Amino acid sequence: MSDPKPLVCDFVLRHARELLTMNGDDALGIVDGGALLARDGRIVWVGHDGDVGRAADDDAPVQIADDAIVVDAAGACVLPGFVDAHTHTVFAGSRADEYEERLQGRSYEEILAAGGGINRTVAATRDASPQTLADLTRRRLDAFVRHGTTTVEIKSGYGLDLESERRILAAAAVAHPVRRVLTFLGAHFVPEEFDDRADEFIDLVCEEMLPALRGVAEFVDVFCDVGAFTVEQSRRVLVRGSELGYATKIHADELARSGGAMLAAEVGCVSADHLVHATWEEITALKQAGVVAVALPGTSFSLGGGYAPARDFIDAGLTLALATDFNPGTSYCENMQMAIALACQQMRLTVAEALRAATSGGAAALGRAHELGSLAPGKACDLIVLAAETHAELPYHFGVNLVDGVVIGGRPIVVDGLPWRREADE
Ligand SMILES: [Zn+2]
Repeated sequence: MSDPKPLVCDFVLRHARELLTMNGDDALGIVDGGALLARDGRIVWVGHDGDVGRAADDDAPVQIADDAIVVDAAGACVLPGFVDAHTHTVFAGSRADEYEERLQGRSYEEILAAGGGINRTVAATRDASPQTLADLTRRRLDAFVRHGTTTVEIKSGYGLDLESERRILAAAAVAHPVRRVLTFLGAHFVPEEFDDRADEFIDLVCEEMLPALRGVAEFVDVFCDVGAFTVEQSRRVLVRGSELGYATKIHADELARSGGAMLAAEVGCVSADHLVHATWEEITALKQAGVVAVALPGTSFSLGGGYAPARDFIDAGLTLALATDFNPGTSYCENMQMAIALACQQMRLTVAEALRAATSGGAAALGRAHELGSLAPGKACDLIVLAAETHAELPYHFGVNLVDGVVIGGRPIVVDGLPWRREADE
């Protein structure tokens, strides 16, 4: 019998003081003194640095190609790239002035009545050219990746008519190394031209937009809350979306106990997001239905309001994801490290729980746990090298960027804290 042919790797990471694999059910799956080998963007082997020379894939020995990319972690902590499972990244215009007004006590309702708020973002986004939206999105994706995010879910929802929603989804798919998962959120808000005719707008979403955007977006989402859509209207969107082959998500129980979480359990959504007002009854229903809970502490921080009971989610056995909710109105922040720091301080998560939620939890909220969010053979080689020796620094050393290196699909994207050279991508 001949010896099995060696597997030749084109990427090697060495000398991680801590390699957080997120493999296993509870802990971080830490390999002390870790190394990792990959080929064609997929991880082949994970183990102790001293065992690199003896690495094997099943029975085949693993070799390192002479021209392999070598990342020397030099004693730093390495973990999977963050998976940000909830963002509204594509929009035009700024609302910095409104934030300042809100800090001074002006209510969102007053701002909205004066022509501000989400209507202002919708108007600016409808007016923006495809090129402008693509440029804005690319710059924001640069910020996400510099802060360690390797996969971003992006929702539409500032167009609210078919062509504008289509342009937003096209911009969301702009060429960029960060992985994207696209979600159609046509039922984000009732646009001004449908004032007092929310049911007719839902007709438009279900009959025109959802069929037309099939295959463009993978998920459909709906804002089920006071001031947005009712449970009945939300159910119509999610059921119609499911029939057309979309996976489903829901903005639930953010502003009030709206019935959204129960609807998520009933429809079998992949995730229910926000859940600030979720009670034990809702948490139990989500657990039984296998719905991933997505907590968005940056939004609570920006609004100066309550935080989701994420401690209860974990204690109940729910899979938890942390995300930024990056958007111009209530969470203008691309940095998952901020979400982690807030989750530890304000939601009483342990550091390990917050890190799992920011990586493998995010992947579960996108139906991608089989390939993203953890470091194991067969998974995508998406990882970050911290400017820190241990993961405990992440919530502790807050307000600065602790990401020194980012690798996506086995390619270095950020090196020594600096972005990749864009020429090399085009
Ligand atoms: Zn949202």
